[in-house]
Amino acid sequence: MPFFAEVILPLSLAKTFTYSVSEAEYNYINKGMRVAVPFGKSKIYTALVIDIHQSQPTLYDAKEIHQILDEKPIVTEIQIAHWQWIASYYMCAIGDVYRGAMPSALLLESETIISQKTDVFVDESLLSDDEYLIYQALQQQSSLKIQEIVAILNKKNIFPVIQKLIDKNILVLQEEMLEGYKPKLVRYARLHSKYQSNEGLGELLEKLKSANKQKEIVLTFFQLSASEKKPITVKKLVEAANSTPATVKALIEKEIFEDYFIQEDRVNFSDKTKEEQLQLSDGQQKAFDAIKTSFIQKEVCLLHGVTSSGKTEIYIKLIEEYLATGKQVLYLLPEIALTTQLVSRLSVYFGNKVAVFHSKYNNNERVEVWTQVLRNSEKAQIIIGARSALFLPFHDLGFIIVDEEHEQTFKQVDPAPRYHARDAAIVLASFHKSKVLLGSATPSIETYFNAKSDKYGLVEISERYGKVMMPEIELVDLKDKYFRKRMKGHFSDSLIEGIATAVSLGEQVILFQNRRGYSPLLECMTCGHVPHCQQCDVSLTYHKHKNQLRCHYCGYSIAKPTRCHSCSSVDLTTKGFGTEQIQQELMELFPDNKIGRMDQDTTRGKFGFEKIIEGFKNRDVDILVGTQMLAKGLDFDNVSLVGIMNADNMLYHPDFRAFERSFQMMVQVSGRSGRSEKQGKVIIQTYNPNHNTIQQVTNNDYLGMYNEQLYDRQIYKYPPYFRIIKLTLKQRDFDKLKEGAMWLYQVMSSNLNMPVLGPEEPAISRIRNEYIRIIIIKIPHNISVAGTKKTIQKMLNSFDAVAQYRAIKVSVNVDFY
Ligand code: ADP
Ligand code: ZN
Ligand code: ZN
Repeated sequence: MPFFAEVILPLSLAKTFTYSVSEAEYNYINKGMRVAVPFGKSKIYTALVIDIHQSQPTLYDAKEIHQILDEKPIVTEIQIAHWQWIASYYMCAIGDVYRGAMPSALLLESETIISQKTDVFVDESLLSDDEYLIYQALQQQSSLKIQEIVAILNKKNIFPVIQKLIDKNILVLQEEMLEGYKPKLVRYARLHSKYQSNEGLGELLEKLKSANKQKEIVLTFFQLSASEKKPITVKKLVEAANSTPATVKALIEKEIFEDYFIQEDRVNFSDKTKEEQLQLSDGQQKAFDAIKTSFIQKEVCLLHGVTSSGKTEIYIKLIEEYLATGKQVLYLLPEIALTTQLVSRLSVYFGNKVAVFHSKYNNNERVEVWTQVLRNSEKAQIIIGARSALFLPFHDLGFIIVDEEHEQTFKQVDPAPRYHARDAAIVLASFHKSKVLLGSATPSIETYFNAKSDKYGLVEISERYGKVMMPEIELVDLKDKYFRKRMKGHFSDSLIEGIATAVSLGEQVILFQNRRGYSPLLECMTCGHVPHCQQCDVSLTYHKHKNQLRCHYCGYSIAKPTRCHSCSSVDLTTKGFGTEQIQQELMELFPDNKIGRMDQDTTRGKFGFEKIIEGFKNRDVDILVGTQMLAKGLDFDNVSLVGIMNADNMLYHPDFRAFERSFQMMVQVSGRSGRSEKQGKVIIQTYNPNHNTIQQVTNNDYLGMYNEQLYDRQIYKYPPYFRIIKLTLKQRDFDKLKEGAMWLYQVMSSNLNMPVLGPEEPAISRIRNEYIRIIIIKIPHNISVAGTKKTIQKMLNSFDAVAQYRAIKVSVNVDFY
């Protein structure tokens, strides 16, 4: 009787595969264990076992697995079921979900490239023979494919050896080197290992007899370690001893101290930092009780609370209750950059029970958190993360919070799985029979609709915490201001006056400039020519400080030309305005104030963002100019004015969500103003002060916005009344694409009894030399979604079977955002 394992391969393949195993292996293997398997001509992959059985595959001869990689399952059955749901709902391969879900160090394959970790000391005597051979090979060659290591060791079962070397921090995966992610490290000091037992201490102090400053630091170090019982940062040591970093350096050189680094958001909190007693206000307490009542009947509850109503504190109280029952809690955030702020807020209450997980962490850390969650470790009872934290191996998940649930970053765009983390979280919760709380000051139309139609519970807070007033909103009519010559650059006299007043009182200002579609361009004044990217259908953006033109889609850049490429005129001018230009104008208007800027260019790398936030919190900056990043849940206490430079370029985006998003964005940025006692102010510059959306922002009228948008959505057939599936077709050959897109469109529209739109040329119709066509399918709520998807999938399969269309890549985006 043969024995088989059914596995998922980490490839974009919809099917599972059958491999043969021995009887002993059959008895050993459990669902959720990984196995190394051969695939294709000579490749090896890490596959995931999802079943064991005895039925021979009919279409092919099952190959044998190479090796079992785990002693116990590292993926739970709930995860497998959840991933299968994602694959089927979002119409992607189960292999894509598996690949996206696992830390890549757990997915070694023959093509994986590994390198030796630099700046790590390796004690060769501790390496096994195989480990030593690999280590040696990497002294000759900076990187190796796992395939090459197979040849070096002359055996095929090498994943465990490599895994060990990764765990020992000796090897890294090449992809990580490329990512170049540099976590923010905090520097700590400790006694050199020579002195860590108490014996050498007398000798040590003797050594420092004539170095008073150094002795002072050493004594301070002893005091601090006695009183705090936790690692001591160099910064703290220097401050406490009233000394200098140079003195610490001298001690390190003398080998009395040594320094070491820990990533900032991973510091082990020795325990709760203080016995913090959180006292909810009456309003918060009411909301808290209402949420709990709603959870008796419903799985999901929406907490709609105005900005600064203290939603986070309500989350904390709820988390406390779930922790007390021993359950795990998942806290999803829209943006990695917000985690540090939140971690420090939560750790006050929960100490080291908080763990952070996101895709930017290195593999060791991701594997570590994965394992902690799998083992239900105390240290990872609360997981904070961006959308990928959803894929962790939870055992006993009791509660999921999705904060700022309206944020579009919860939807993954590329690559597949193109899932929405909020919606996938709700499904995950149903597998665990746990509860979900969605929080926002500006809920998405879909979520509010679900709450209003009684699918979700709904709890609202309309007051800010501490009775802080909502900001006062002033509209500035740009048409009128230009007409009456009351503008300096992009600033109206009212805005200039507002800024001047605020800074003169020592208060801070945030200016919001949505740059999307409004980047500065270089234009020829003689012939009107605008330089375009060679590979993409977009104009190049002018970057003043580098004096460059850049493509925001592919990164192509050239030095700013001195003559027009088309007519050779030297009369070139910049048009449009981005954050950089606003900053420039501000420096001229307010030469005595410090001006900061926050956008994609200044926040590259995770900690760029945090440096700017920190600087602003510390009041190193008076006026901060930024893009939509500023709109996300940040809490500043000294901002009394928020200025929106131009509300119109958000409103007129060709997108059915444009008004909803403009509303959310403006309300969210406005919410940064006046978070302490004094009423804050918001100045909105616009050509359309009477536009409904602007009026709704001004009156803080969420319901008005919701009702108007809902009406439009029904008329124009959009969510929540229709589900949208977007097909994107790409191909280098323009004519072939056009023809193929038309073919697919016709098949779709004649087989689906519902609106099918397209094939449309999107606003940006070529990226990296590939042309693009879009087809939109709108599924009405009375037609089966699952059935429709099956039909669509069948048509996509037949499209794929047409030889002349095979080169066209089609990607499917379900619930396109
Ligand atoms: P939201 O997330 O709703 O915008 P926050 O949770 O950031 O609001 O709260 C706004 C401010 O009010 C924060 O500075 C927070 O620390 C403070 N705050 C809210 N609730 C309380 C409370 N119960 N006790 C003390 N401070 C609170
Ligand atoms: Zn020209
Ligand atoms: Zn480009």
